[in-house]
Amino acid sequence: MFLFHTIKALRDYLYHQRQAGKSVGFVPTMGALHTGHLSLILASKAANDLTICSIFVNPIQFNNPDDLSRYPRTLTADCTLLEGAGCDAVFAPSADEMYPDTPALKFNFGDLERVMEGQFRPGHFNGVAIVVSKLFNMVQPDRTYFGQKDLQQVAVVRRMMLDLGFQIELCPQPTLRETDGLAMSSRNRNLTDEERPVAAHIFKVLTLAKEAILAGQSPAEARQLAYAHFAQEPAFRLEYFEIVNAHSLQTVETTQLHNQTALCVAAYLGKVRLIDNFVF
Ligand code: AMP
Repeated sequence: MFLFHTIKALRDYLYHQRQAGKSVGFVPTMGALHTGHLSLILASKAANDLTICSIFVNPIQFNNPDDLSRYPRTLTADCTLLEGAGCDAVFAPSADEMYPDTPALKFNFGDLERVMEGQFRPGHFNGVAIVVSKLFNMVQPDRTYFGQKDLQQVAVVRRMMLDLGFQIELCPQPTLRETDGLAMSSRNRNLTDEERPVAAHIFKVLTLAKEAILAGQSPAEARQLAYAHFAQEPAFRLEYFEIVNAHSLQTVETTQLHNQTALCVAAYLGKVRLIDNFVF
């Protein structure tokens, strides 16, 4: 497996691979890799000749400096996992390599970012869109793999690709979970031993809300139920629990329930911010 730190080295490698007619799958990550990330690598390997993974903790998508400084960085262990999964090359640039100057460009995704993550993390999706569009230009993949765990990110990237005309196939992948239902996440490493079992409460509440809807309750009732269950677990500070259309991200009423309805949650457990969702 190759490890590149510069755009030039990555481009030289990819140029020769493309000359040889190889198709390229691309998995952007921020590292501290777990089995969920590796499932994206495996999905890419199944459909492409070459799989490239980027590892870059993108400073401009963090609105909270503590979150950025606490974000785990484990490049050596990540490379071992990627090599084991059969990844062909890793691109791990420095912040200076990615941002020789502060980007002047600003993305505005309108309604897509006025809710949920966009509402609670102002500027987050501008940072995501800048880094993802830069990475797309550097890698020029045929296909790209994103986790449905970051449902709003998938919707924003889909919109960015449409608006900018990227000729890349977006391949969203299901969320991998721990045995107690907790969605795998790099941030789980920052949970204390006491917090870790409590974190599975998020999955339990999502399950209860989903069952309530399937039993005929309205989205508003299911949302209320979720808020009540979070109130019973004081270790959590709930930011939002929303029931939305997975593409438009706008709130769903009873008459609009269908198989693209998503239950989305974000909550702090101690200092760790966790997000999760179920899509019907
Ligand atoms: P991150 O390193 O957190 O930016 O994540 C990199 C990619 O992995 C994103 O597309 C995430 O949605 C995806 N991802 C993160 N957690 C999981 C998971 N538990 N299952 C599947 N994909 C995931």
